[in-house]
Amino acid sequence: MREGIIFIISGPSGGGKTTLVKKVLESSENLMFSVSYTTRKPRGGEVDGKDYKFVSEKEFRKMIGEGKFVEYAEVHDQLYGTPVDLLEEATSKGIDLILDIDVQGASQIRNKYDSGVYCFVLPSSFRILKERLSKRASENVSEAERRLSEARKEMEDIDYYDYIIINDSLDEAVNCLASVITAARCENEKVLVRIDKDYFS
Ligand code: ADP
Ligand code: 5GP
Repeated sequence: MREGIIFIISGPSGGGKTTLVKKVLESSENLMFSVSYTTRKPRGGEVDGKDYKFVSEKEFRKMIGEGKFVEYAEVHDQLYGTPVDLLEEATSKGIDLILDIDVQGASQIRNKYDSGVYCFVLPSSFRILKERLSKRASENVSEAERRLSEARKEMEDIDYYDYIIINDSLDEAVNCLASVITAARCENEKVLVRIDKDYFS
């Protein structure tokens, strides 16, 4: 059995990562979402344990001390981290995993694992990003502005990513991410065929 593939999705806040990932998960088999821990408060409609595991800063820091995160970072003044247990369990069972994490977290994962498929999601212009963030209205004006100014910095890491997914048409972006997943799975088959002693029998 092959190991699960890790798909890392990053991009500026409001670019559509959550929306895109949810859509792709609906139509893919053997693909799981890595539910992160965060100290940020839940937005309306977010479900604890499904979208995030919402914890206090004290709990989060305790988990850091216990080595429970494969990566963690401070993003927009809040802590976010990927639990190591879920990642290891899924990949050892051959389940592919999607991580929606920021550029700092992606860099930590890159330093720990040689494999992984890195995708950067963003709309075709900063204007669209601004409109989406203000339409989502999940942050107050100053928090939204801060996220936009951090977007410029996050985009500096774009060259470290394998794929850029332009999310203007959601359907096209979904097709694009689904294609990346299919391609990575096909590439993996190459390894399996090589090691399968019974292939020619
Ligand atoms: P992120 O997870 O990257 O912060 P979201 O998935 O929350 O972004 O998307 C930000 C806002 O943009 C949401 O209100 C979402 O409904 C909207 N959105 C996402 N993708 C598209 C798209 N392709 N076209 C129009 N609106 C979109
Ligand atoms: P939001 O608050 O909009 O849900 O997420 C803010 C940012 O935190 C996004 O860039 C998202 O990708 C990132 N993020 C979510 N979970 C994690 C995580 O576990 N680790 C890291 N490093 N970033 C995360």
